Amino acid sequence: MSKLVSVIIPCYNEEENISNLYNELIEKLNKSVSYEFLFVDDGSKDKTTNEVQTLGEEDKRVKLIDFSRNFGKEAAMLAGLDYAAGDAAVIIDADLQMPVATINDLIKLWQEGNKLVLTYKTRRKKGLKSKLATKYYDVFNNISDTQIQNDALDFQIMDREVINTICSMRERTRFFKGITGYIGYDFKIIPVDISERTAGESSFSSSKTLFSYAFKSIALYSDLPLKFSIIIGGITAFISFLYLIFIVFNTLINGIGVPGYASTLAIMMFLFSIVLIILGVMGYYISLIYNEVKQRPNYIVNETKNIEEE
Ligand code: UDP
Ligand code: MG
Repeated sequence: MSKLVSVIIPCYNEEENISNLYNELIEKLNKSVSYEFLFVDDGSKDKTTNEVQTLGEEDKRVKLIDFSRNFGKEAAMLAGLDYAAGDAAVIIDADLQMPVATINDLIKLWQEGNKLVLTYKTRRKKGLKSKLATKYYDVFNNISDTQIQNDALDFQIMDREVINTICSMRERTRFFKGITGYIGYDFKIIPVDISERTAGESSFSSSKTLFSYAFKSIALYSDLPLKFSIIIGGITAFISFLYLIFIVFNTLINGIGVPGYASTLAIMMFLFSIVLIILGVMGYYISLIYNEVKQRPNYIVNETKNIEEE
């Protein structure tokens, strides 16, 4: 019997892309293995579900997991892995930015015995954004024990063993690249040319989202910001102490001088803002903990199609 590969496709408002992607998959995928196509509809507000349902009528390999609301791409990828029946699983975006034919290369490398094959995007122009991205990967890898690959994509193939390992990690605030790095399996990594999105809208393009994503991922895999708060606190306490000694002696020697209003205010404002920054960092970690201890499910499924319950 030929091996089964699950193709997992997280979809959020991708009605214009579903049938095109499906056609590409049918046309380009190598027939040496069999496939299931797991479309995870992450609470789309358009006709994504209907599009997948229609395909599923004709082709039983097209499976649908429909979320009750938008839980985010991380949750959608996890759901795909949870429901995947394959000997291996590939994750690919619905927007046709990733070349479908590369799945064949991934499968080939998997068949050669690689349990995990990752991809990274090739960058043609080295603009500011690409420099910032490189800096981000440097910072992440420097301050975290978990290592992630520069410009890695979520587009990857995982053996059943890796799928099971990833599915056993149920943390609520997820960062897929971090998990892939954390589990520590040997991997191969290949470059991929990413094309522009032709239909629909990107959910991650604004710089605000990217920055909050960057900070979140770092907080998830490193406690250095917390330690850093202690260091900043220590340094300012030391400087304040020196200044305190100076003031005491100055007062003893020169008597009480009235001037000093501006410097007092400046120092107070400086120290207070440092305290606030530290509180903010701590608060951020607490919110991550809070999110975890609630023990809520990672996602809620509204309906499925072509999936047999086990
Ligand atoms: N996506 C999702 N849930 C979301 C946002 C995005 O499942 O809340 C899917 C989206 O449909 C696409 C993939 O994740 O298949 C990548 O999203 P997008 O193209 O917006 O990201 P970008 O390519 O700009 O990084
Ligand atoms: Mg995209």
